[in-house]
This record gives sequence, C-alpha cells and structure tokens, in this order.
Amino acid sequence: MRRVLVANRGEIAVRVIRAAHAAGIEAVAVHSDADAEGQWVRLADAAVHIGKSAAAKSYLNSAALVEAAVSTGSDAVHPGYGFLSERPGFAKEIGDAGLTFVGPAVSTIEMMGDKAAARGAAERADVPIVPGSPPVATVDEAVAAAEDVGFPVLLKAAAGGGGRGIRPAHTAEELAEVLPAAQAEARSAFNDDSIYLERAIVGARHVEVQVLADGHGNVVHTFERDCSVQRRRQKLIEEAPAPGLAPETRQRINDAAVRLARQVGYVGAGTVEFLLTPDGEFFFIEMNTRIQVEHPISEVVTDVDLVAEQLRIAAGLPLSFDQDDVSLDGAAVELRINAEDPDNDFQPTPGNLSRLDLPGGPGVRVDTGFVAGDRISPFYDSMIAKLICFGPDRDVALARARQALSELHVDGVPSTVATHRRLLDEPELRTGAVHTRWLEGLC
Ligand code: ADP
Ligand code: ADP
Ligand code: MG
Repeated sequence: MRRVLVANRGEIAVRVIRAAHAAGIEAVAVHSDADAEGQWVRLADAAVHIGKSAAAKSYLNSAALVEAAVSTGSDAVHPGYGFLSERPGFAKEIGDAGLTFVGPAVSTIEMMGDKAAARGAAERADVPIVPGSPPVATVDEAVAAAEDVGFPVLLKAAAGGGGRGIRPAHTAEELAEVLPAAQAEARSAFNDDSIYLERAIVGARHVEVQVLADGHGNVVHTFERDCSVQRRRQKLIEEAPAPGLAPETRQRINDAAVRLARQVGYVGAGTVEFLLTPDGEFFFIEMNTRIQVEHPISEVVTDVDLVAEQLRIAAGLPLSFDQDDVSLDGAAVELRINAEDPDNDFQPTPGNLSRLDLPGGPGVRVDTGFVAGDRISPFYDSMIAKLICFGPDRDVALARARQALSELHVDGVPSTVATHRRLLDEPELRTGAVHTRWLEGLC
C-alpha cells in the first residue's frame, strides 16, 4: 500500500492520515465546499474537492469518492466511521475499481449491518443475545412476538445506527401505535423498513469489545470499553477497561467477541457491543464493522495502534502482535466534546468556534480536526474534539480528566464541556455505578 484515500472528515480523517504517515503511506484527503480549510486537508499529501456541503453531495457520494481515489492513484480507501463506512455498496464499488477497502469483506458488512442477521450469527457462535424476535411486518405479528419476548420491548430498525431507529413500547397498545411510525422512519432514514423487537434490558451497562482480525486467521481482542454514559442512545463518556468487571466476566465477554468474529470470518477492526446486567450476565446487541469513535481509550491502555493495524490488515500483512502480547495497563476515559446544548436535549449547536484552548500534560490526548476560527458546520456531526485522559489507575485517569477540563475552553458555540465537569463529580460516575439510562435520569 503506497497511498490511501481517507473518505471522511474531522478528527477521524486526521487520525487516519497520521497513522498512514507513520507507516510510510501517503494520504489523500477529501473535502466538501464547507471543509476546504479543514485540518485534515492541510495534513494530507493531496486533497480532492468532492462536492457541495450537504453530506449527500460529498461524503456520502460514493461515485465522487471512488473517482477521487482513482484519479489520485490511491491503492486503498479508509472509510473512517459514520458516512459510508458501513455501507456494503461502497466497499463493493471500491473493490470493483480495483482498490482495497480498509475494512471487512462486503458480505461481512452486509450481514453485520443487518442487526437481525447479526443476532443469528451471534447465536451460531454461541454468544448470548438479548431476548428478541425476527423481523416483524404487521401489528399482529409484533404483538405476538412482544408477548413472547416480554414487555417492555424496544423496536429496532434492522439497518439502524448512530442511536437512531430505536423506540420503546411498554404495552401492546403502545406497540400497535409505534410500529407503523417506526417502519416509516426506518424506510426514510435507512432505506429499509425492517423492524424487529428486543426486550428492553433495564439498568444494564453498555460494554463493548474491540476485536482485530487479519487475513491469516489471527483473531484477537484488545479488551473492552464501558460506554454507558449516553444521551439519545449515543455515547458521551467512555472508559477502558470497564470499571469493576470481575476478571472471570472480562474473560467471558472478550472470548465471546472473538468467537463471533471467528464465526463470521471477520477481517479488520471491529467492535462487538453487549449489554451487561448487574449480575454479570451479558447479551450481544450489535457489531460495528469499522473503527469506532472511542477507539483511543483502548489504544492507550493496551499500547496497540488500532488504525495502524487496520492498514496492516488491509495491506495483507498479519497483525503485528499475538493475543498473549496484549495486556491491560492502567485506565482511560474519553469525553466527547460536542457542539450541543445540554439544556435542550443535547441538540447540535453549530457555529463559529471562536476559541478552542486544548489541555495537555501527562496522560492527556486530544483528537480533533479543528482549530480556533473553524466553523462547526450544521451539515455534519457536532463533535469538536475527543478528550482522552489516562493513567496508572482509574482514579488518576479521572483526576487528569478533571484537570484537563479546567484547561479546556470552547467559545462561540454551546458545548458539552460544562456537562462533563459536572458529571465527573457525580458519585455514581466516581464509583462506576452507571447504566445506559443514567444520564437521562439526571437531566
Ligand atoms: P460509535 O459507535 O463509534 O461510538 P457513534 O454511534 O457515535 O459511534 O457514531 C459515529 C458516527 O457515525 C456518528 O457521526 C453517527 O451519527 C454516525 N453513524 C453511525 N451509524 C450510522 C448510520 N447507520 N447512519 C447514519 N449515521 C451513522
Ligand atoms: P446503534 O446501532 O444506534 O448504536 P444499538 O443497537 O447499539 O444501536 O443500541 C444503541 C444503544 O441503545 C445501546 O448502546 C444501549 O444503550 C441501548 N440499547 C440497545 N438495545 C437495548 C436493549 N435491548 N435494552 C436496553 N437498552 C438497549
Ligand atoms: Mg451501537
């Protein structure tokens, strides 16, 4: 691999360009009208304008991206996260153009991108799944399935993602009411109206396992992350390792993720997401077939460069280490610094980033694609930066996060900085006693 096109923007584009350069690979950036001045554009060896500001006309325009890769002589395309990263059609177009997609096979993306199909794969791998149903088409079917599964249930779009396409139903009446709306929403948002049901697991934590698999039969995990602090079913704070996990549970959940990756012939970096109940039972919810937003916390506690491994795997090389080489060292926390209004259900608040003072010092890593003076665009997601703090143990990591937050200043747009300052002092967060609806209960 000599040159990789990075089909993304913001901090993840910067992250991939850095990994490419470290591996001696040239990096090509892409940008829309709105992003001509992006930091990733400056860092790359070349940059291609791919279209207008609306995502549909640029970062979601697969033809423009493939054309940019071909015209710049790139041999590979890294999709980052979001946008086209989990669209099997995009991976296929890249392959058809004779280029390498940095990610798993088209058929794997297809199967795991359908959450109902992914549940089937988990069952075959002997990985416990949340009690649930196959896709349901009619209200009668849904009500019968829900009575089997047990209320309350969640209606989930099989093709959903990014916290979208999930609705609760507590009774048969409520289910009858929300099913048609869920189907319509799934059709317009994901172009697929397939809905299935899962029992809503109350009081559980979101624990996910990072896996890496190469094309030579090696499948490893780099331990788990706890991402229970969520708003709108999307993560706001993540930790590695999961606090308070019994060693035996850690082993079982990490093994389960590796077993699933093996079962589906996985190649690449991926994340297997679970819900973990207070008594140590866990259930598979979905697999994300891409690099994840919160990957840095795993990197700093295992000393594995996940993006570098993605590039190695895509180049056909074996992983640079074995499972036995991976151990947990210390603890890390990631705080998502978003342009959002915490007083208005964390709705995005785009605008001019007039000031961005970033913290530093031992155990502090900031991943961002922006500098003061940049615009947080209404066209894309609201993340400004990821603040990753780590240390020899969880208390040190959290203390460093508090100090880093006191140095971090964002002006021009409302942000989640003040929320993080407050949350880090909450007793449940200090002790690690949070669950997926904890934050919503506080707001
Ligand atoms: P992670 O799973 O890596 O923690 P998020 O759930 O925050 O990440 O999603 C990462 C990005 O990808 C966000 O910008 C989110 O909006 C976007 N995203 C993820 N899945 C989808 C999807 N199916 N459709 C649209 N956007 C998505
Ligand atoms: P997405 O593809 O949008 O990330 P997920 O299926 O991973 O969707 O669900 C998003 C979040 O919703 C999870 O992290 C968890 O907090 C919550 N959730 C998902 N399934 C369940 C469930 N069966 N019971 C309770 N909470 C759930
Ligand atoms: Mg998820």
